[in-house]
Amino acid sequence: MEKIYLDNAATTCLDKEVLDAMLPYMTSGFGNPSSVYSYGRETRLAVETARKTVAKHLNVKPGEIFFTSGGTESNNTAINAAIRDLGCTHIITSGIEHHAVLHTVEHYSNSNAVTFSLVKLLPNGHVDLKDLEEQLASQECKCLVTLMHANNEIGNLLPINAVSALCRKYGAIFHSDCVQTVGHYPIDLQRIDIDFISASGHKFHGPKGSGMLYVNGNLEIKPFIFGGGQERNMRAGTENVYGIVGFAKALDLAMLHYEKEAAYIRELKQYMAEQLQSKIPSVTFNGDAFGSCLYTVLSASFPQTDRSEMLLFNLDIHNICVSGGSACSSGASQGSHVIAALNSAADQVPVRFSFSKYNTKEEIDRTIDTLKELL
Ligand code: PLP
Repeated sequence: MEKIYLDNAATTCLDKEVLDAMLPYMTSGFGNPSSVYSYGRETRLAVETARKTVAKHLNVKPGEIFFTSGGTESNNTAINAAIRDLGCTHIITSGIEHHAVLHTVEHYSNSNAVTFSLVKLLPNGHVDLKDLEEQLASQECKCLVTLMHANNEIGNLLPINAVSALCRKYGAIFHSDCVQTVGHYPIDLQRIDIDFISASGHKFHGPKGSGMLYVNGNLEIKPFIFGGGQERNMRAGTENVYGIVGFAKALDLAMLHYEKEAAYIRELKQYMAEQLQSKIPSVTFNGDAFGSCLYTVLSASFPQTDRSEMLLFNLDIHNICVSGGSACSSGASQGSHVIAALNSAADQVPVRFSFSKYNTKEEIDRTIDTLKELL
């Protein structure tokens, strides 16, 4: 039986065109970009061309783009720089951030470098902007606000411009983990006043271990990783040339085909929701599933019974790959911290379905039939 992969918020498969763009840099184009002879000059050109491509799509200067090993490193770099170089001593974040943000914030708070507070959430999982403003207004020290552009488990989208306006009003640094939105939406950073955004290549059919941090050109920060002078002294280590090339190619393709692919995926999500509601009426949806939400993610919950407790495991046996929360927490015994933060009923089994351009309605039909059988 063919596998059905509905866990595209965890990772996506590499696009063949992305692989083709990367392959030359795994074979003949192996030079170190720091070498001055032709091998090095060729890979240097590839890295700088990739930077220009990424900068063009985000509408920023190439010098504001730094390639990293992924979303986790980008988040760590931004948070570290805000504390160490930009004078932030209080962090405002939310309880539904990815652990790449939450654990980093907790780390710096445990080492007494900063204090932090969590912004309140509305019942539908959106950030309570009134509470954010109250928290910003009550802080006398410089704040970092780190709030994700889209939640990887429930899909809720942040009103990023409203948050940015509050950050500017109160002089706070603003970082957004855009790992689930870069490559899924056109993002014009001339229209979003922000200090840092993080992105990850493997979420939009690029390679794993490739990522990017946008650093607003007005900021002066030091490296997170020390060593050689790569990335204009900002991120030491020989560049992941094929990863960088793959990241840029994946972003290029995603933006080129955005309208068609987004419409197709949005329809898949809608179809899945309708089928679930008609065939499994006990289903409920988490977050703002049909409002301000990613078109790629549908977070559903099923009542807890003897059968549903083993749901993910049984779906796996039927060759259907979905997740209970984020990829990092689905293997762990504790439930999702995001679902827990939403105060959802504890007697529910959450399942995240997340879609890509490679999924089909037939796959959704088979998934629904299997769910009916298993529940
Ligand atoms: N932030 C979010 C919202 C994510 O979904 C992920 C991936 O799981 C990450 C950060 C981590 O990104 P990476 O896997 O590139 O380190």
